[in-house]
Amino acid sequence: MQFDYDDQNIFAKILRGEIPNATVFENEHALAFNDIEPQAPVHVLIIPKGAYVSIDDFAANASAAEQAGFFAAVAAVCEATDVEKGFRAVANTRAHGVQDVPHFHMHIMGGRVLGRMLPDRA
Ligand code: 5GP
Repeated sequence: MQFDYDDQNIFAKILRGEIPNATVFENEHALAFNDIEPQAPVHVLIIPKGAYVSIDDFAANASAAEQAGFFAAVAAVCEATDVEKGFRAVANTRAHGVQDVPHFHMHIMGGRVLGRMLPDRA
C-alpha cells in the first residue's frame, strides 16, 4: 500500500513549532502532548516525529529505532499520567476509522471508566 503524507496537517505544524502544544513527553523520535479537546481526564496524543500517515504506515515503514522511540514514549506517558487503573490506546485510521489528522497518532485516554470500546451495533 502507498502512503501519501501531507506535510500541511496540523501535527506536522506542531512538530515544526508553528503551532503550540502542551508537551507531556518528548524524545528523539516521538512527541506526546495533551489533546486540545480531551475526551477523558487523561487524553494524550503520541506522535512519531517522522512523516507517517497512519499506524499501518508506521508499522510497515518506520525504522526499528523510530518504533522503539515511539513505544518508549508510550511507556513514559503511561508512567507520567494517572492511568494506573487502566486506559485505552486508540489509533483511528483512515475513513472507516474516522481519522481526522493524517499523521499517525496514538490516543492514550484514561482517568475514568471509559465504557465499552464500540457501541454494540453501528
Ligand atoms: P483523530 O480523529 O484523527 O484520531 O484525532 C485527532 C485528535 O487531534 C482529536 O482528538 C483532536 O481533538 C486533536 N487535535 C486536533 N487539532 C489539535 C491541535 O491543534 N492541538 C492538539 N493538542 N490536539 C488537536
